[in-house]
Amino acid sequence: MSLSRADRGLRVDAARLWRTLDEYARYGATAAGGVSRPVFSPPDLAIRRRFSDDCRALGLDVSVDAAANVFCARPGSDRTLPRILIGSHLDSVPDGGRYDGALGVVCGLEVMRTLVELDRATRHTIDLVSLTGEEATSFGTSTFGSRALAGRLPDVSDNALPDGWTVRQALHDAGGEWDDLHAMSTAREPLACFLEAHIEQGTRLEATGRALAPVSGVCGIYRHRIVFHGTPGHIGTTSMSERRDALRAAALFILAVPALPAAVAAADPSATATVGYLNVTPNSPNVIPGRVTLVTDLRSADATLLAALAEGAAAEARRAARDTGTEVEITTMLDQGPVVFDARVRIVMAAVLEDLGEGGTELTSQAGHDAVHLGALAPAAMLFVRCRGGVSHNPDESVQPADAALAADALLRAVLAIDASPDFDAPGVPLS
Ligand SMILES: [Zn+2]
Repeated sequence: MSLSRADRGLRVDAARLWRTLDEYARYGATAAGGVSRPVFSPPDLAIRRRFSDDCRALGLDVSVDAAANVFCARPGSDRTLPRILIGSHLDSVPDGGRYDGALGVVCGLEVMRTLVELDRATRHTIDLVSLTGEEATSFGTSTFGSRALAGRLPDVSDNALPDGWTVRQALHDAGGEWDDLHAMSTAREPLACFLEAHIEQGTRLEATGRALAPVSGVCGIYRHRIVFHGTPGHIGTTSMSERRDALRAAALFILAVPALPAAVAAADPSATATVGYLNVTPNSPNVIPGRVTLVTDLRSADATLLAALAEGAAAEARRAARDTGTEVEITTMLDQGPVVFDARVRIVMAAVLEDLGEGGTELTSQAGHDAVHLGALAPAAMLFVRCRGGVSHNPDESVQPADAALAADALLRAVLAIDASPDFDAPGVPLS
């Protein structure tokens, strides 16, 4: 790793970092101690203003792109070099925690503050980004900002938010512009790499007593929408033998799904299979359920095992329909293959962590992240930070101050190592 001895001694201001995390948690703060900052909500707009103000106060060049991603750049000495991008997201799920996303942005801000304070010049422009709408939304997308950058955003412009506004209107209010999205994704500036620090949202770090881990990639996600069609009818007058009960079919299916990882994907102990959405029609106490819609979510870091899980789930759905005399309709909603992060950035990240006394094996991410889509534009890598009990998307999300500081130290050193390395002087070509 190309870090000077002096850079190996660099530390961020841990107290300032923690104070900023606390202050950012006031935006959309909930009584339970977490935050509610769904994308385009008033608290999301407010924290965008706060973040932009903090970056302007540091002298960074603040700009907002068509997807309302907020970029805060510190120009490098050689403007011909591609930018080093760091960051994460400031939106949250409703009633979420303080650190999912915000930790990565605030660690990035602390890296910028440290560079400015040290008056430390870099060759590359360092760009800190807060990406729009990483979390899943009611209007049908997740990772909104990073998909838009990668040219992968589906047309959700006329979909409605809970307050009745369309995505197009809400995006405009946040400083973006739907009609300029396409031009933005094709005219993007070259990137050397993208680095994201994020809470683990699992217990693997806690279980092994580590504060940080490099991330090798992100699992693939496969989602089916499954609709069981039965016959609605009177619950008293329709005999048991005459029924075609769609909810009974769904129940058989739901019980079969959790067994799939062990049955068909045992080689990946992190593989998961879940039914997280169920809609019963007419959902009435005195009508036999005529139709049930559900969504399965299947995850594995191995593409072959993920395909086996998807096939296994479809077979179970057909079996449940057969056993209940119902019909089943199976549609693929999402087929997102596993992503393996760029080897060169992973090597830097692993070396930096080793140097900080946090060496160890890489983890795969079981959650989707913006780095998946930015990894299609540039070499990307992530750093996981231990969180208490693996609790996330929950007000009880908790991170140790020392772990947060160590994550910012690691991010700072990774940025400086990449800046010093000639390997990153050409625009990065993503490997996967
Ligand atoms: Zn997140």
